[in-house]
Amino acid sequence: MQPISEIFPLLPQPRKVVITTHQKPDGDAMGSSLGLYHFLKQFGHTVTVISPTNWAAFLNWMPDCRLVLDYESQSSLANMAIAEADWIFCLDFNTLNRTKRMEEKLANAQATRILIDHHLEPQADKFEYGVSDAMKSSTAEMVYDFIIASGNDDKMNEAIAECLYAGVMTDTGSFRFPSTTANVHKMVAYLKEKGLQHTHVHEELYDNFLESRFRFIGNVLLHRMEIFYEYNTALIAVPQSDLIKYNVRTGDTEGLVNYPLSIEGIKLAAIIIDRGEERKSSFRSTGNFDVNTFARKYFNGGGHFNAAGGQNKEPLEEVVAKFIKAMKENKDQLSNYQF
Ligand code: 5GP
Ligand code: MN
Repeated sequence: MQPISEIFPLLPQPRKVVITTHQKPDGDAMGSSLGLYHFLKQFGHTVTVISPTNWAAFLNWMPDCRLVLDYESQSSLANMAIAEADWIFCLDFNTLNRTKRMEEKLANAQATRILIDHHLEPQADKFEYGVSDAMKSSTAEMVYDFIIASGNDDKMNEAIAECLYAGVMTDTGSFRFPSTTANVHKMVAYLKEKGLQHTHVHEELYDNFLESRFRFIGNVLLHRMEIFYEYNTALIAVPQSDLIKYNVRTGDTEGLVNYPLSIEGIKLAAIIIDRGEERKSSFRSTGNFDVNTFARKYFNGGGHFNAAGGQNKEPLEEVVAKFIKAMKENKDQLSNYQF
């Protein structure tokens, strides 16, 4: 993988560009993709953003989100864009299988693949150019760095600022995680100077849920959460019947895994959701428990040191049993935690 700075001189020549991200894009995936989209458009490039799957409705406010193709429902349009592309930017994922059914098309595309990502252990051989930095708070911060380092800060505008702010704010837990560096705060100050209305972004992201989501969360916290104090661990296991009963939509479960982390002493929090086609898990930790390794070892996943995920094909009860066994295997690390 060549350094991404090598494409800076190539930016002014209009090209056909695809930007894609991971399945079920979150605020950072969608925000960084649309931020880059609004930047590249200004050079006269033809830019198509493709999401491997649908996304949460609370992202739809982002400028031009309605133009994003959903690979699951618009695959022929998306395949055409991939086939014609000169460049394919891959944002906020480290392995091509994070794009689900798009994986093969991306792997076989003639286009130059360019990675911008902050996850550990990227498939570097799959990308001609790129930047991978696990110390970065968010891919949105990396797109900001890309714009500034390429000498194009005159192209920063309000649309880019809103998208990038949404990405960095959501991936830093509203600027609380250790990844929130001085550069992150400098970036936000810079975006404010470019006209960012940050309150608007917060309201769009966090004040647009339906009542059913809160009934669902109430049910989950009351009936589906188990605390293993001996292991400083909390587990939430959600059967598919709950998703149906409470009409849970894409994005409604986001952030739920963080709730038990606020309980005194909890070092590892996990949620396993039966989504029908697979059991999707999310892991969060505080301090020195490495959930990236944990997710890779037991749950076919990965991510960051303190935030990772995975998926399994086995039934929910088996994945829960697997988690409890894995937790017990890591007893030394989990139990002897110094607060
Ligand atoms: P979340 O729990 O919010 O879905 O994901 C937490 C972090 O782990 C994100 O950075 C995400 O990209 C990563 N992640 C989630 N699920 C998977 C997975 O199945 N495989 C890999 N490699 N990473 C994942
Ligand atoms: Mn991210």
